[in-house]
Amino acid sequence: MRTPAPEPAADPRRSVPSVDRVLARLTGLPPALLADCARDAVDAARDRATTGATVTEAAVVADAQARADRRARQLLQRVVNATGVLVHTNLGRAPIDPESVAAAASVTTGYSNLEYELESGTRGSRHVHAGTLLARACGAESGIVVNNNAAAVLLALGALARDRDVLVSRGELVEIGGGFRVPEIMAESHCRLIEVGTTNRTRRADYAAACTDATALVLKVHASNYRMVGFTEATPVQELATLGPPVMVDAGSGLLDEQTPWLGGRPDWLFDEPGVRQAVASGAGIVTFSGDKLLGGPQAGVIVGRANLVAACAAHPLARAVRADKMTLAALQHVALAYLDGRAASLPIWRMAARTVPELRARAEAVAAAVPGATVVATDAVAGGGSLPGLTIPSAGVALPAGDADATLARLRTQGVIARIDHDAIVCDLRTVDPDDDDRLATALAAART
Ligand SMILES: *Cc1c(COP(=O)(O)O)cnc(C)c1O
Repeated sequence: MRTPAPEPAADPRRSVPSVDRVLARLTGLPPALLADCARDAVDAARDRATTGATVTEAAVVADAQARADRRARQLLQRVVNATGVLVHTNLGRAPIDPESVAAAASVTTGYSNLEYELESGTRGSRHVHAGTLLARACGAESGIVVNNNAAAVLLALGALARDRDVLVSRGELVEIGGGFRVPEIMAESHCRLIEVGTTNRTRRADYAAACTDATALVLKVHASNYRMVGFTEATPVQELATLGPPVMVDAGSGLLDEQTPWLGGRPDWLFDEPGVRQAVASGAGIVTFSGDKLLGGPQAGVIVGRANLVAACAAHPLARAVRADKMTLAALQHVALAYLDGRAASLPIWRMAARTVPELRARAEAVAAAVPGATVVATDAVAGGGSLPGLTIPSAGVALPAGDADATLARLRTQGVIARIDHDAIVCDLRTVDPDDDDRLATALAAART
């Protein structure tokens, strides 16, 4: 008599629910993205099942929903910058004034005279808007706006110095961060880089000795994110302007006027940050800077200077490839008008910079009162964005005992709050927090406590 074959063990993978069953129970994202999460969770469950683990439908749905929630948090969204870094490149640099955004919305939700002369009814130039106004605001003859300052430098070098020499001090062959290296930009623009002077000292005579008929430009790069101290010497724009070739200044931060008249004077923390107006007044032929650093506008690169040099930049084929779009131009026009109108103090970057310590302490006290264990601390905010290393802006914030600091920071991030660790405490600097976000900050801190 034959014994019956043993029943084959039930395939453990049969307990894994179908992607459709899981997908039907997910929320929070478009179906295409939820389907990806459902599929990934089902795949992971199948792998677990083959190793013998028990898999329930509820667990697979929970895993898929957790994946969807993580995916939703990756979407571009508003966060609370509690780092105290005003121009934080990873957090989108300068917040844009809501009025500038409203102006951009009004211009761009319909048609506009972006490249159209309303008076003559003929084709116009997009450069006559924000570019012209920003030039006026810093005392330059002419100006254009491109995608960002890296593009502005690339375009200006390509348009004004292709196949010719550009003199740069050895102390200014810097990397600004994010891959912007002066020698590489130079190579991309097909300019010959002529290094002059030494790392710590470069004098006018060094430039003069290197100046020949092949010299197209003398370039001065704002050292931005680092500062040399000690036995140093750099040649001011005023002296470079007497060499002959046009001087190009990469001013980086876009501080329009180093006297900051919109703040009623120059704050200590701006120390020796060079102003665009002063570079122009000192004889620079071309000055480039970012729109979203200390200018306080949208991402953009601004080229201002002598009319013939700016026109050469505008006429170069690369200008078409790096041109700014109408949203940027409309928002930047509003920012330029604020400067021309003496209202720049109302731009978020300058409002944050100008907040007094007592005002920040009062807000910190209100936040700390809502968070058990939190204390008010004195902090140091910084400008950031490659401007002014070494100088801090006295500020105030809220500190939480760190516990497991990395875990606490991670919990804060899930609530969209970016804080920092300082002396074994979690610190939220209020200078960079919009007062409207104080409640959100308090709620997040209370929830993140260990
Ligand atoms: C920030 C900076 C740049 C790069 O500007 P983007 O607007 O980020 O392209 C270039 N040069 C200097 C000196 C800077 O500070």
